[in-house]
Amino acid sequence: MSSIAALAQGLGITLKALFSKPVTIPYPDAPVALKPRFHGRHVLTRHPNGLEKCIGCSLCAAACPAYAIYVEAAENDPAHPVSAGERYASVYEINMLRCIFCGLCEEACPTGAVVMGYDFELADYRYSDFVYGKGDMLVDVQGSKPQRREAQYTGQDIKKGYALPYVRPELEGVQPPLLKKPRQVAPKPQADDEHSGH
Ligand code: SF4
Ligand code: SF4
Repeated sequence: MSSIAALAQGLGITLKALFSKPVTIPYPDAPVALKPRFHGRHVLTRHPNGLEKCIGCSLCAAACPAYAIYVEAAENDPAHPVSAGERYASVYEINMLRCIFCGLCEEACPTGAVVMGYDFELADYRYSDFVYGKGDMLVDVQGSKPQRREAQYTGQDIKKGYALPYVRPELEGVQPPLLKKPRQVAPKPQADDEHSGH
């Protein structure tokens, strides 16, 4: 009796699936719906005033378990700063063949400069093309290298999963510190304040 019940249960599942909609995603003809926390190609973000958030500290490179990140830092010219810190990344490279898209670089970054974006079509031909530099990852750049190359040849727009790169909300909109910020000196308490109990 129990085997008949199990058989009926199994057939019931089959019948249910027979009348449900197919779940096949017709990729690449249709865009893939990505989850908000998807880990795709990295994005190097900027502050709202345009300065790069990356200060070249290399913490992301130290945190990377795949040794995929290479950073060279240089001093900012106070008259024409690149970043909001004393230093900026003159070279910032990620080897996408080494990267395992774990997101530890994003976790380690103290300024929210490097974030995991949504580009996932990274397949390419030459080893050197898998090394992404600042010019491939700054927030102004849309798409991966092969996507941009194809768009250049075909004149078509870059296919995007999302219109905007993902930026950690708690760090977005945070004003950068000024390069030469005047030191804030706390006012000395007045004699009345000292005895007022506040
Ligand atoms: S996602 Fe992980 S493996 Fe890739 S660069 Fe960042 S820390 Fe390294
Ligand atoms: S991306 Fe972040 S952690 Fe990496 S060098 Fe720049 S500021 Fe430092």
